[in-house]
Amino acid sequence: MAIPPNVTPAAFDAALAAWRAAVGSEWVFTAAEDVALYRDAYSPYWGEPEERVASAAVAPATLEQVQAVVRAANAHRIPLYPISTGRNLAYGGSAPVYSGSVVLDLKRMNRVLEVNERNAYALVEPGVSYFDLYDYIEQAGLDVWIDPPDPGWGSVIGNALDGGAGWTASPFRDHFGAHCGLEIVLASGEVVRTGMGALPNSKSWQHNRWGYGPWVDGLFRQSNFGVVTKMGLYLMPRPEALYSAAATTERDADIVPMLDVLNRLENEHIVNGSTGIFGGPDGAAASFPTWTCSVPIYGPEKVVRAQMDYAKARFTAIPGVRFTEGELLRTPLSPEAQARVRLVNFGIPNLSTFAMLGRSPSNPDPAGGHIGFSPIVPRTGEALLEFKRFYRENLAKLSGGEDLGIVGPVYMTCWDRTLVCLIMFPIGRDPARNAKIRSAFEGWVRLAAARGWAEYRAPAAFQDLIADTYSFNHHALRRLNETLKDAVDPNGILSAGRYGIWPKHLRKV
Ligand SMILES: Cc1cc2nc3c(=O)[nH]c(=O)nc-3n(C[C@H](O)[C@H](O)[C@H](O)COP(=O)(O)OP(=O)(O)OC[C@H]3O[C@@H](n4cnc5c(N)ncnc54)[C@H](O)[C@@H]3O)c2cc1C
Repeated sequence: MAIPPNVTPAAFDAALAAWRAAVGSEWVFTAAEDVALYRDAYSPYWGEPEERVASAAVAPATLEQVQAVVRAANAHRIPLYPISTGRNLAYGGSAPVYSGSVVLDLKRMNRVLEVNERNAYALVEPGVSYFDLYDYIEQAGLDVWIDPPDPGWGSVIGNALDGGAGWTASPFRDHFGAHCGLEIVLASGEVVRTGMGALPNSKSWQHNRWGYGPWVDGLFRQSNFGVVTKMGLYLMPRPEALYSAAATTERDADIVPMLDVLNRLENEHIVNGSTGIFGGPDGAAASFPTWTCSVPIYGPEKVVRAQMDYAKARFTAIPGVRFTEGELLRTPLSPEAQARVRLVNFGIPNLSTFAMLGRSPSNPDPAGGHIGFSPIVPRTGEALLEFKRFYRENLAKLSGGEDLGIVGPVYMTCWDRTLVCLIMFPIGRDPARNAKIRSAFEGWVRLAAARGWAEYRAPAAFQDLIADTYSFNHHALRRLNETLKDAVDPNGILSAGRYGIWPKHLRKV
């Protein structure tokens, strides 16, 4: 049996006994084969001494059991790492950031507590996956949509807390942004409800997110200040239709006015779908557009037709830009339509995204996993072109002159006002190759930071590196986070190191 770092066998035994009494022996896992299930299948350190691994796991089923587990961990100074469904592939899986922590596995807490069709919201526990919430809504015949990320097996809460995104309409795609109200167990075991939930018997917890006084919810995104045991979220009333179009151009420089038009249309709420910018090969023939911008609009048919007319007028005012209207798909989709669309755009969770990583004729020897460097750059055509040049100029150098299978940049406009330029790195089981990938990844992070671009979400192995780049005023933000950490979790038991926030006893000088 593994023992967490800096913990005596006697203290660990006492904690295990308390957890067994609280949750039942069958829900405390210490056997190597059980604990191995919490390894990160996409770890860039797979099989190396630096791989982040758990020492044990404990799986409570109720709020009271979470409190009991946390209290015992606090009393015996045992590092805990809460996960919801633990399917955070590409960002650490279900493995802890601080190796040797005990995983606090919340996937047994899987109740959909409420779905309110009239005001379009839900209240869920951490183990509720996108599939679960979708099934609940379908079975109840409610006229609301969820907004799933590509893998539908993840947790509504876990994905939001890690800063995840989906693929339907704004504002629902920003998963933390679309939450309304949290219930949190602090390191002391105390339960806090945020927003209107702080009012005993509140009738409006999921109606108003701000409540009274400072809004503390943001402290629980990408942090380690508490264990979230309930979350409210806004749902999208099922839109009557999705109408899509594509604006294209053959001139590289046209991306500047095209992105200005797209920004304007999104900021005016004319275009509300998950847009995308796709670049064709450099110097493409006239038959192959250099830039394509997808333009999806959700809403009532009459309204989206008028919005599309307006979008078309704005795009075609740019000389040389073509605008091709696609299909208008009414909802609910017919089975025939369901078979040919990208389901996540219609709020339907699935796992088809994993096909891109699987073995196929075009990819006969897949690496098995990937991680991404996703810096946020200004949402302008000039910045996008600068990033494109930056990528081209540095790829060979940062890859040590080898083809490491790095792919990029993918331009993502998944959040309002935000442009993410994603570079993808294959991760496999060969330590030598993974070492080269890690070195390239670090190189990109440092070089991008020097230009004023930084990552929004990071794999566990790189969370310190990226936190280091957010260094304005001698790391004032880190120092503030550490002050908060010391106040809410003085023994430093919760998710040590998550997003670069370390408790006092593990802080590097
Ligand atoms: C091919 C592929 C495609 C992907 N596409 C997307 C995508 O479209 N959008 C997207 O957002 N992501 C995507 N991902 C990344 C990731 O797989 C998903 O975000 C997934 O939903 C995260 O796993 P989870 O929901 O099980 O969260 P968890 O693993 O449960 O949680 C994530 C982290 O949040 C913290 N946490 C979780 N629950 C709690 C809690 N209750 N209290 C305190 N802290 C907690 C923990 O630190 C945990 O490690 C993709 C990954 C792959 C491999």
